[in-house]
Amino acid sequence: MSSQPEHPALLIPGPIEFDDAVLQSMSHYSESHVGAPFVKAFGETLSMLRQLFQTTNPTSQPFVISGSGTLGWDQVAANLSEPGDEVLVLHTGYFADSFADCFETYGAKATQLRAPIGDRPQLDEVEKALTEKEYKILTVTHVDTSTGVLSEIQALSELVHRVSPNTLVVVDGVCSVGSEEIRFDDWGLDVVLTASQKGIGVPAGLSILMASGRAIERFKARKTRPTSYFASWKNWLPIMQNYEAKKPSYFATPSPQLIHALHTSLTQILSKPLDERFAAHRAASQKIKKAVADLGLKQLAMKPENQANGMTAIYLPDGITPPEVLPNLLKKGVVFAGGLHKEIATKYIRFGHMGVSVVDPNRGDIEKAIDALKNGLGEVGYNP
Ligand SMILES: *Cc1c(COP(=O)(O)O)cnc(C)c1O
Repeated sequence: MSSQPEHPALLIPGPIEFDDAVLQSMSHYSESHVGAPFVKAFGETLSMLRQLFQTTNPTSQPFVISGSGTLGWDQVAANLSEPGDEVLVLHTGYFADSFADCFETYGAKATQLRAPIGDRPQLDEVEKALTEKEYKILTVTHVDTSTGVLSEIQALSELVHRVSPNTLVVVDGVCSVGSEEIRFDDWGLDVVLTASQKGIGVPAGLSILMASGRAIERFKARKTRPTSYFASWKNWLPIMQNYEAKKPSYFATPSPQLIHALHTSLTQILSKPLDERFAAHRAASQKIKKAVADLGLKQLAMKPENQANGMTAIYLPDGITPPEVLPNLLKKGVVFAGGLHKEIATKYIRFGHMGVSVVDPNRGDIEKAIDALKNGLGEVGYNP
């Protein structure tokens, strides 16, 4: 039994439901952020992130900084691009527009490679773009939370290394880390950035990022200074290295309570093989996608290989809008999200299935949500 007050199951693509132990670890008594016990917890948290991202290369560098996932974009743009640099942003939905805007804020030139809604740029198109111009950075959204489109990170990274070996491969994993397989070393990635509140299952407030040794070298070779103060790796790199070496260090005060929550969640996640966790997400996702198809509904991501395992974006039947359905679902104890993609926001809803709602089947969240969707649509007159 959960010790949390009874509440509707939060099944949006982040924040997700939190485990009791994760929440309880946030009620930790106040302690010094430079005291030995906290430095130890922070250091262990950074080491556990190496395991979560599947990197054993000692030159890889984890960062955990107070902020939301968006701060990861600022870290990349402020530290890895210089004014005037060309960046290629692969577009699979809303979040690419924002990442591109972030680069422009720092003076880099972002070119977006677009795909039709529900699809992703194809490898031959990416290859063509990479041969036309010298890009310093390529970014890809692993799962675009506005469309539920999954990108193929491994093949993409191999392509970049083959045709444009100096281009850094940056993955926006805010909606994928913890629910989709990511092999940082094997896939040759340079940055994967995420946030605490999605697949990792920790309250919002932490920007979590892994950088490769190559990315850190690129940062160190900058001709201009980082274009942010709070997000500057010049400030944070020594702090992260000291924490992991269990040495007290200060640039800006971290949130000890959130770090404890992250420590607890990572300990739980890593207590089982990661492959099992990803398999559980795939299985839950298949079940949901089958139920959606059985209801006669379509997903935004039409091709099976394009479909995320931690969320599903579902077109509503013609003439039914999110404000008609979502309150119905709420009455049945589940919270879904409305549409986010600007062009079609009123036509679809989003179902997040990550973390404890998936790996703790005793909760029954997934079955409850599938039933609610079925009955909720029936109540507004839809019968497949
Ligand atoms: C949620 C999300 C973000 C932004 O994260 P915030 O924590 O809301 O700042 C960025 N990219 C993707 C893919 C996301 O899903």
